[in-house]
Amino acid sequence: MSDADAVRALVNHRYFQPHRTPIQIFNRATDPFLPRVKTHLFDVLDDLDRRGLTNHVLVVTRYRIDPEDCARLNRLRHLKLTLLVTYSGIADQRIEPVDSAIAARSLQVAYQHAQRYRVVLYWRPLVPRLNDSPEHLARAVELSRHAHATVFTGLFYRGEIADYYRANGLPEPYDHTARRKIVPETLERRVLEAFDSATGGPLFRKTSCGVSFAHGVPDCNGHYGVRELCDICPLSQLGLCADAHRPPTEAQVRELAARLPDKEDLEIVQISERAATTAGLDEQPRYFLQHGLGFQIHDQRHPHRRRRHGRADIGWQREATA
Ligand code: SF4
Repeated sequence: MSDADAVRALVNHRYFQPHRTPIQIFNRATDPFLPRVKTHLFDVLDDLDRRGLTNHVLVVTRYRIDPEDCARLNRLRHLKLTLLVTYSGIADQRIEPVDSAIAARSLQVAYQHAQRYRVVLYWRPLVPRLNDSPEHLARAVELSRHAHATVFTGLFYRGEIADYYRANGLPEPYDHTARRKIVPETLERRVLEAFDSATGGPLFRKTSCGVSFAHGVPDCNGHYGVRELCDICPLSQLGLCADAHRPPTEAQVRELAARLPDKEDLEIVQISERAATTAGLDEQPRYFLQHGLGFQIHDQRHPHRRRRHGRADIGWQREATA
């Protein structure tokens, strides 16, 4: 498929909302800054930008970013572009195939030249005993000063990854696999303390929070209702998100859902200050509603627990469902 066809398919997709749907491109099984991918990255960005779209576009990389790349990206006029530079600091090449020094350098180059885009230190995956030593944390704090925001997340310890660890004789970080990312409670506390005591850059638990902060707009996923996520957020951003936080009425949810082909399956279980809980919708239509309403839309089958929204239960004391 040509880049132009791909962009057409994207903007004509039934779940695409101009100026609203956050987009990630060249994010699966490749890296957007690999030399042969980069030309497509720029073409797709230019095409989207020429359409006057102001959507968030997230470009995630752990590869080389040059000053020439930055100059090219600074020519964009409309998109809210964020470069998320993945950095783990893991030295074992069996786990981290790309030297973390490359990402660290890219982060600094991208940040130094940023005019029309924003740069996020995407610090992940954080894995106990692999990259959580005091030295690792101190290095992340140092790097956070070369980014508009820092987002930290854990490891998706899925079956395939567990198999890979076992097959390569790597120490297994957890006893169980999980369908969400794992960030144990003690590790999170140490991360927050490291950033607090050494005055690191603004730190976020959610990707969309870091990205939204970097652009000075309310969180596009409406996480503000999940109050415990916001205790580390800068005050100015809290104000922006508070102003935008409006739990929708059932009628508003149904009005937007009227555009969904599977709307008959939608059951609205509950709407609270935190989130609307639904049943009968898959991830894509749920996210369509979430982005359209700027409010969390959860699935009854996968409840989020207090203080670990979007994360696995592993490594946390059991608490009530959120
Ligand atoms: S106020 Fe809360 S929802 Fe908004 S960006 Fe900060 S952490 Fe995210």
